[in-house]
Amino acid sequence: MAAMMPGVEPFRQQSLDLQTHIRSIPDFPKPGIQFRDINPLLRNPAAMNEVIRRLGEICDAVQPDLIVGIESRGFFFGIPLALNRSLGFVPVRKPGKLPGTVIGVDYDLEYGTDRLEIQSDALIGKPRVLVVDDLLATGGTAAAAGALVREAGGQLVGFAFVIELENLAGRSVLPGDVPAASLIRYP
Ligand code: AMP
Repeated sequence: MAAMMPGVEPFRQQSLDLQTHIRSIPDFPKPGIQFRDINPLLRNPAAMNEVIRRLGEICDAVQPDLIVGIESRGFFFGIPLALNRSLGFVPVRKPGKLPGTVIGVDYDLEYGTDRLEIQSDALIGKPRVLVVDDLLATGGTAAAAGALVREAGGQLVGFAFVIELENLAGRSVLPGDVPAASLIRYP
């Protein structure tokens, strides 16, 4: 179980309520799923600035050397965060997208398996890595990305999510020795 991140306060009263920029769409992409749509957030520069400011506070807490973003919605937040903090950005992608030598990890989905890949020379020099994604649900995707970072030689120092679906307990499958932070939580 990943611990809360010291120095990062998820429920601090904000002047800008980020949750009002997330749209909930029932039964998408299939019946029973309450989809948390980040597109209204992406359309609003003030809200996006606030997201990047708060993700920046997470960087202050864990001092990464670079940001790893998970395809594809992790790129929407990981790249502006990396630029904002003058850090490099490394993508973790679906299979067959990255050229050259890659390292891959397979992980279980509700039905079947999936795979994520990283370029094998992306984390040379043991950089401190913060993994960023839009949303933590069951945690399988983020846990796989964390395993990939370690396999590629990076020091995994934290996970940051814009949204956390607490009822799915994704935090419990993340490594216990690394903190995780989220900005918006649904119980
Ligand atoms: P998981 O591996 O279950 O933690 O799923 C995480 C990934 O699935 C994230 O990258 C999200 O983009 C996506 N995802 C899962 N559940 C939802 C949801 N209810 N609404 C929006 N995206 C979701």
